[in-house]
Formats: sequence, C-alpha cells, structure tokens
Amino acid sequence: MASREFHPADTVIKIKGVEIGGSELVIMGGPCAVETPEQIDEIARLVKLAGGQVLRGGAFKPRTGPYSFQGIGTEGLKWMKDAGEKHGLLTITEVMTPEYVDICAEYADILQVGTRNMQNFDLLRKLGTIQTPVLLKRGFSSTYDEFLNAAEYILAGGNPNVMLCERGIRTFESYTRNTLDLAAIPVLKSLSHLPVISDPSHGTGRRELVVPMTKASVAAGCDGLIIEMHTDPDNSMTGDGVQSLFPDQFSDLLADLEKLAPLC
Ligand code: PEP
Ligand code: MN
Repeated sequence: MASREFHPADTVIKIKGVEIGGSELVIMGGPCAVETPEQIDEIARLVKLAGGQVLRGGAFKPRTGPYSFQGIGTEGLKWMKDAGEKHGLLTITEVMTPEYVDICAEYADILQVGTRNMQNFDLLRKLGTIQTPVLLKRGFSSTYDEFLNAAEYILAGGNPNVMLCERGIRTFESYTRNTLDLAAIPVLKSLSHLPVISDPSHGTGRRELVVPMTKASVAAGCDGLIIEMHTDPDNSMTGDGVQSLFPDQFSDLLADLEKLAPLC
C-alpha cells in the first residue's frame, strides 16, 4: 500500500488547512523536548513568526541511557497543545508505546515514531487503528525496504496518513552524529506516494550543518522539514542543543527557502 504501483498519485495529507505532500514545503520547528510552558510558548511564537506551520517538541523522550532526562510527560503535551493553539500552529510529538497513542493523539495533530521505534510493530499496529497522521522516522540502520515495510504496518491497519522521515543513518563517519542519506529522498519519492520529510538536525547532529543540509534536502525534493530550534540551546534539557538552530538562524533559513521552493 505504500508503493507507487498501488497508488500512482502523491498522497497529500490535509490537517486543519495545512497540506503535507502537496506543492508547498511544510516546516516543522521547535525544541527537541518540551521543557516549560514558557519555553514552548516562546518557541511557538518564533516558529510562527518565521513562517513555520508545525510546532515540534517531545514530551516523551527516547533516551539512549536510562538516567538521562526522559521528558516531561503528559503535562508537556498540554503545554504544547496550548502553545500550538495560541500561535496557530499544528503540533507534532513522539509516541513511544502503544499505551500512550490515545493520549498523545488527544493532544497532538501529528504523532512521531522515532528512529529507535521504527520496527516496534505493536506500536505501528496501534497507529494503524487511528486516523491521526503519523511521521515515521527511518531506523538508523534500516534499508529503504525495511522502512517502507514499517510504513506498511500502519497503512495496512487502516491509517492512510503516513509520512516518511529521513533522519540520518549510522555510518563509519564519526564527525557527524548520523549521515543524512540525501538519496533517500528521491528514492522514497519514486518508490512510494507518501510525503517525504527530512530531518537535518538529527541527520547531522551539528548546528552548522543544518542550514546547508536543509537546502540540499529541498533540492533533493523533500515535501517538508523537521528542524530543531531552541531559544537557549546551550542549556537545553537534552543533548540536542548542539544541533538546534538559534531563532534568528531559523528565521533566516526559512526566508532563504522561499527563494528555493514555495512555502505553505
Ligand atoms: C527527536 O526528534 O528528537 C528524536 C529523538 O528523533 P530520532 O528518533 O530521529 O532520534
Ligand atoms: Mn532531538
């Protein structure tokens, strides 16, 4: 069902007037994690001002180590929903277990499946039972075929609203946190009708590479971007401050993108 052969036309996911997978680029921006009501409200204001359409922020964080900050939890979902509504943005947040799908779907417009959960089949099956749009991140060691099969679980369950996200893969290179696989964008667009989103933040792990890799992703044909931005990246509660843009970099980038592709 994810294949172009099955469905030749591009899938366009419409959420409250925003179209993902249509002719305009969609920008999702925000912090790695929701930290305080003030933080998410201020970042939402800046995302909107810069021209973004979707506020990102994790309330449940998949951390490599069990002692790292694991996210604010349900309270954070509420803060993010309020910030999104106040500033006129859609919201996207990560869901990690089937038990939390309903609560996350109650508060967010789009549910994110993280790279570590791409093959969490119970989670994918559960997401197939609802209609909330899902942004499925590519597992950092997954082939295109495995990625598309993971999307298939959600589609086969009855949820057609799936977007694919390239967020970098693990390679021998250690200068970057991951290697953003730019070729994935045109490959996935040719194999599948689903919208393709690029994540240059996790794809590089380095702030100075986010701008050029965003532009490269647009040139490669992505339908949208998910970009980390923080008002105080040096003091962010996850280690992802090093890859987060400052607000002025984020707004300059969006202004530049308008020269490359029409924005929503
Ligand atoms: C994130 O978006 O903050 C995140 C944890 O992403 P990934 O699953 O790609 O590592
Ligand atoms: Mn992050």
